Amino acid sequence: MWVYDDARAALRDALRLSRAMTYKAAVADLPLGGGKGVIMATPAGGWPSDRRHAALLDFADTVAALDGRYITAEDVGTSSRDMSVIAQRTRHVAGLSRRRGGSGDPSAFTALGVEAAIQACCERAFGSDSLRGRTLAVIGLGHVGSRVATRCARAGARLLLSDVDQGKRRFAEDLRARWTAPERALESAVDVLVPCALGGFLDDRTVRRLQCRVIAGAANNQLADDRIADLLAARGIVWAPDFVVNAGGLINIAQELDGYDAARARRRVTGIADTLRHIFDDAESMDTTPLTAAMELARKRLVAR
Ligand code: NAD
Repeated sequence: MWVYDDARAALRDALRLSRAMTYKAAVADLPLGGGKGVIMATPAGGWPSDRRHAALLDFADTVAALDGRYITAEDVGTSSRDMSVIAQRTRHVAGLSRRRGGSGDPSAFTALGVEAAIQACCERAFGSDSLRGRTLAVIGLGHVGSRVATRCARAGARLLLSDVDQGKRRFAEDLRARWTAPERALESAVDVLVPCALGGFLDDRTVRRLQCRVIAGAANNQLADDRIADLLAARGIVWAPDFVVNAGGLINIAQELDGYDAARARRRVTGIADTLRHIFDDAESMDTTPLTAAMELARKRLVAR
C-alpha cells in the first residue's frame, strides 16, 4: 500500500514489482510464479481507518476472484493485522499471525536474509564475511531496515543510519549509531550500503557519487534500469541483485504451503548467502554482471519447470 501520483504510476510499479517477484521466486527455487498487488493510497495524511479497511476488503475480493492463482502477503504499508482483514474474504493470503496459523510478519526473515547476503558480499569484496569493524550505512529503518541494523550492530558492524522519518533518530541513538540525511548516507564512504527504503535510487547520477564497495539491501527495484548494473561493475562496486537479497520473507512465507516449520525456514533463508556466491562465481566466469547472472539462473529454473 503506497501513495502514487496517479494510477499509471501505480500500475507501472505493480508491473516492475511483479517482474521482480518472478525472478525472486525462481532464484530462490520456490514453486511459485511472480505477482504483486498494489493498493493506491490517498495522498499524504493517509485516510480514515474505515476507508483503509474498505480498501483492504476490495483488494481481498480481487484476490478471491483469482481463485488461488495469486496469493497475497504483507509488504510496504501493510501488516499481518491487515492480512487478517483480507482473510475475511479469501483464504489465498499468507503471512497471517502465528496465532492464526500463519508464519507472521515476514520482515524478520527478510532481515535475516539481508544479513546473510551482506556477509557473502563482504567475503567477495574484502576476503572475509565477518562484519566486525565493517562500516555500514542503512537507509530506511522500517520493518526490515531496523532489524538489519540491529542484527549487524550485534555482529560488530559500525553503523550510519538514515530515514526520511526523523522519528527514527531515537532508534539510531539506542543502537549508538551515527545519524545522517538519506542523500548523505547514499554518498557516504562506507564499506557497505544497505538500502532498505524504496527503489529506483541507483541511476547514472547517483552511481557516479557512490563511495561504498558493496551494495546489499532489502529495497525492491534498486536500479533505475538494468543498464545501471554495468555502471556499478565498472566502478568496482559489488552489487547484490535485490531480488536475491530480499527473498527471505518470500522463502519464509512459501514454507506455509508445506506446513510451516520455522527452523527449516531459517535454514533456507540463510542459504541466500550460498545462492549469491553461486551468482558471483557465474558472473565472473561468464564475464558479466551479477544482475545478468542472477537473471540467467532465474530463466534456467523457469524453463526447467
Ligand atoms: P517499511 O514501510 O516498514 O519501511 C520503509 C522505511 O523507509 C520507513 O521507515 C520510511 O520512513 C523509510 N523511507 C521511505 N522513503 C525513504 C527515503 N527516500 N529515504 C530514506 N528512508 C525512506 O518497509 P519495509 O517492509 O521495511 O520494506 C523496505 C523495503 O524492502 C521495500 O522496498 C520493500 O518492498 C522491500 N522488501 C520488504 C520485505 C518485507 O519482508 N517487509 C520483503 C522484500 C522486500
